[in-house]
Amino acid sequence: MLVVMHKDATKEQIDKVSNVIKEMGLKAHPIPGAQRVAIGITGNKEMVDTNRIEGLPGVVNIIHVTQPFKLANREFHPEDTIVSVDGKFIGEKEIAIIAGPCAVESEESLLEIAELVKEAGAKFLRGGAFKPRSSPYSFQGLGEKGLEILAKARERTGLSIVTEVLSEVDVPLVSQYADIFQIGARSMQNFPLLKTVGRFPKPVLLKRGMSATIEELLMSAEYILSEGNPNVILCERGIRTFEKYTRNTLDISTVPVIDRLSHLPIIIDPSHASGNWRYVSALSRAAIAAGADGLLIEVHTNPPGALSDGKQSLKPERFNQLMGEIKKIAAAIGRKV
Ligand code: PEP
Ligand code: MN
Repeated sequence: MLVVMHKDATKEQIDKVSNVIKEMGLKAHPIPGAQRVAIGITGNKEMVDTNRIEGLPGVVNIIHVTQPFKLANREFHPEDTIVSVDGKFIGEKEIAIIAGPCAVESEESLLEIAELVKEAGAKFLRGGAFKPRSSPYSFQGLGEKGLEILAKARERTGLSIVTEVLSEVDVPLVSQYADIFQIGARSMQNFPLLKTVGRFPKPVLLKRGMSATIEELLMSAEYILSEGNPNVILCERGIRTFEKYTRNTLDISTVPVIDRLSHLPIIIDPSHASGNWRYVSALSRAAIAAGADGLLIEVHTNPPGALSDGKQSLKPERFNQLMGEIKKIAAAIGRKV
């Protein structure tokens, strides 16, 4: 439910409405807008008796949000959310490019890749220090050492760091190094983890689970938002289907669907979606044309020697070429890279 306030409503009137909502045992979320303030109501199990709120000074009307995701809902927050990280933005006209290896493997290789993706135009560096692997015998990441290497790469290049946090207990540690927490597909419904990152003042890149519906993705975002963290970036990374020629199937329709349903930025990961470097450029171009707010792309200087996801990693030259291609597509739809 959303209480729409008059455009000239005073702070006292807004506080009064919030207090009445709290007295009713519910949570109030004031949402400042360009024109007026709205106050979201969450925490109700049944229909809220709106009589007490309707008559309060400054209230224009009350909108019932029928979807189960409230704070993530565009009805709650008509303007796009723009996530800001160290002077860079995700969700605005300029498309955010996040690139780097699947995993941080060594200082030397990460620094080399970081310089190359920066030169090509990326603003964010990705790389996992804690890796969710299907096999416990596969490379699990360098842990804190990997985080230190990422921080060094940020110092050298100015790129902002996106890295996965796999477990609730690691959130404080990862937050000391990361600029954006990544929640991986396998963790999308790790609710205690979602609540924990929701309490940290750091943006969260939330990947869609491989068998999750768009509504489930939005409900997971809702967990983070409802803990007080408004900076959530959604990421479509392919879903499991019967198709075998690609690792997953990129659900490109997530982009316009999310754009309609939610104010949160939506980016595409063509690397995990395809599982094959040959398809990464085509899917990236499609993502930009569809209106994605960013791309998350795996890049490696020596894909055959990569410790994870080499098959889907672009060489830096190919990544650079792709950046040129998407610039033109972005310009054609009034955006820029
Ligand atoms: C990754 O980004 O390297 C990763 C593990 O992705 P996903 O969670 O989408 O599989
Ligand atoms: Mn990967």
